[in-house]
Amino acid sequence: MGKPVIICVAITGSVPTKAANPAVPISVSEQIESTHEAFEAGASICHAHVRNADETPSSDPEKFAALKEGLEKHCPGMILQFSTGGRSGAGRERGGMLSLRPDMASLSVGSNNFPTRVYENPPDLVEWLAAEMIAYDVKPEIEAFDLSHIFRAADMHAKGQIKETPYVQFVMGVKNAMPVDRAVFDFYIETVKRLFGNDAAWCAAGIGPGQIVLNEWAISSGGHARTGLEDNVRLSRDELASSNAQLVRRAVEIAERYERPVATWAEARDILGLRASA
Ligand SMILES: [Zn+2]
Repeated sequence: MGKPVIICVAITGSVPTKAANPAVPISVSEQIESTHEAFEAGASICHAHVRNADETPSSDPEKFAALKEGLEKHCPGMILQFSTGGRSGAGRERGGMLSLRPDMASLSVGSNNFPTRVYENPPDLVEWLAAEMIAYDVKPEIEAFDLSHIFRAADMHAKGQIKETPYVQFVMGVKNAMPVDRAVFDFYIETVKRLFGNDAAWCAAGIGPGQIVLNEWAISSGGHARTGLEDNVRLSRDELASSNAQLVRRAVEIAERYERPVATWAEARDILGLRASA
């Protein structure tokens, strides 16, 4: 058997709505239920955004606190990763929940285009978010929407702005950003190994139909995989995914095919160098 693969489930995001897929969990209680099912299916990281009742994105620390409390109760041991992404708030609002000390938080270290706007991550905000993560002992996951973001993470690591070896996630298939491109994907892996060492852990996420492609590429190349309704609401072109758990099961099947065991939450914490669960 190969080395364990960590499956991250991105349950909600800030874009998909119930109109796109009624299974997208919006309220905190829906999020807890959906995550619990995904956890039982094999996910060991929950990547979460929170929403307002009207489905618009929120960065309200109280919602994050309620989600954290529920997930710690219903999914004990699961790694909680909160999003500091730019669709949920402006400026430092984006890091308002870091004082809750989730295990991890996403960190975008550079700017790029998104489908209809600029995804703005100015250097001073990136450095402030990184410093908050150090202050609250939150491990960043570096969201690489572009090759330059991997180099920016290396630079921040060299300056002590990211303490441990950066855990990079390659994001492919966002319209107007990096497409799903195998040669670039392979170069990303090569670059991570060159900058952070051969054993550095990394993961990958694909958007829409790219999700299953990136799951397979990552699992077959020794990386970790992200799935979930945030990135993709469909099982196939004609069929909606019935739940986050169904997408997790699809990743588990790929892991089985490539003879990689699915990491338990304890193994995932060990691989990522995280503190024992709360
Ligand atoms: Zn997200």
